[in-house]
Amino acid sequence: MEIDKKTLHLLQKYDRPAPRYTSFPTAAQFTHAVSQDSCLSFLKTLPEKESVSLYVHIPFCHSLCHYCGCNTKVVNTYAPVRAYLDLLHKEIDNAGQYVSGKPRAALLHFGGGSPNYLKPEDIKAVIEKLGEYFTFGAETAIDIESDPRYLDGDTIKAYADMGVSRVSLGIQDFDPVVQEAINRIQPFEQVKSCVEDLRANGIEKINFDLMTGLPLQTLESLARTVEQAVSLAPHRLSVFPYAHVPWMKKHQKLLEKYEMPGTQVRFAMTAFVDKTLQESGYTAIGIDHYARPDDSLTIAQNEDRLRRNFQGYTDDPCETVIGFGLSAISSYTQSYTQNTTDAPAYRAAVEKGEFPVARGCPLTDDDRARRRLIEKLMCDFELDLSAFRVLLETFPQTRSTLSLLAQDGIIELKNDHLTITEIGKPFTRIVASAFDPYFQGAEGRHARAV
Ligand code: SF4
Repeated sequence: MEIDKKTLHLLQKYDRPAPRYTSFPTAAQFTHAVSQDSCLSFLKTLPEKESVSLYVHIPFCHSLCHYCGCNTKVVNTYAPVRAYLDLLHKEIDNAGQYVSGKPRAALLHFGGGSPNYLKPEDIKAVIEKLGEYFTFGAETAIDIESDPRYLDGDTIKAYADMGVSRVSLGIQDFDPVVQEAINRIQPFEQVKSCVEDLRANGIEKINFDLMTGLPLQTLESLARTVEQAVSLAPHRLSVFPYAHVPWMKKHQKLLEKYEMPGTQVRFAMTAFVDKTLQESGYTAIGIDHYARPDDSLTIAQNEDRLRRNFQGYTDDPCETVIGFGLSAISSYTQSYTQNTTDAPAYRAAVEKGEFPVARGCPLTDDDRARRRLIEKLMCDFELDLSAFRVLLETFPQTRSTLSLLAQDGIIELKNDHLTITEIGKPFTRIVASAFDPYFQGAEGRHARAV
């Protein structure tokens, strides 16, 4: 795939570190500033009658994928999982006692790690524990990330029985050479069989996660992967560029012995996937998601209801996300909070009846307004700047950065209306960073923007 001169120039100039803006302020701004009293007050003052979103982190996997950027641990026996589940139940009890009125749970998302490391009865028990403090109904969506290598028929049947509505399967790449390099051997037939089993059990909403820029991946191998993925007709696909951050994830150094696609090839891969998926009938959602026209994400985008949170793009309208488990992040109107990533510290806090929170970021009015602005930009690729005039006054560099981006053709500015151009869309994170007064642009904190 040919890259034109103009795009090459933009790549040279703008392929630099930038946050993914799944939150604002970003996790890089989280400090140790959140007290036990603050956590207690966030739960006690949840807006009455408002639905909440719940997130449960399961930090266990069967083996380590060498590209992995998640908070997880490889375990070979169930004993540590059992011990973690006991703590998780206690953490839910500790927090739940302060939640009044049993708010409706609009969404429960199990992330990881590999949530299907859990025995199905243990997943069910977590749902039941949450059900003591939150109201679950037919309208509650239950999503679960699953590793297809370990998703057997009995687990899928149990998912259906416990009301799981969406399953996200980690695919990344179907090419055997790439799979070997990343230490994730997962033949196409295995994934196909999972998809068929899920559908046979009535679970139609299936997401695939793919990745570009992996070692030994080529445009040709990626084309085969996309073709195979499309042949299974998932409802949604998320296509993330591989984030090589060995200073944070040391095991990623294992990939450095392989040839890695360079910036231009990675860019061409993203462009190829974007074109191919849209030609295959998927709607592009934001910068890295694709959904079938009948999927709720596409409908939300069409109705101007698309949101962005730590899980990526979502149609979940809740203002509050309450996270449980190691490293889980909660989002309240007043603050973000994040649980510790340190297992002994998690155990000590939960056993004492404390919130296992390690850091967070209280939100000022300015942060909340910028959060709205950046979310809108990441979802819609356009903005009415006149609605955010105060923010431009409090961070005046924004105007000069926007002028430069406009000169380079990344955005258009007309009567205070900002539109990210087609050629500028791959640089959306750079545009968002123009509104971020905390962002220093330093190497070593964020993955590159393209
Ligand atoms: S299955 Fe997912 S969470 Fe587990 S090691 Fe692989 S990429 Fe990481």
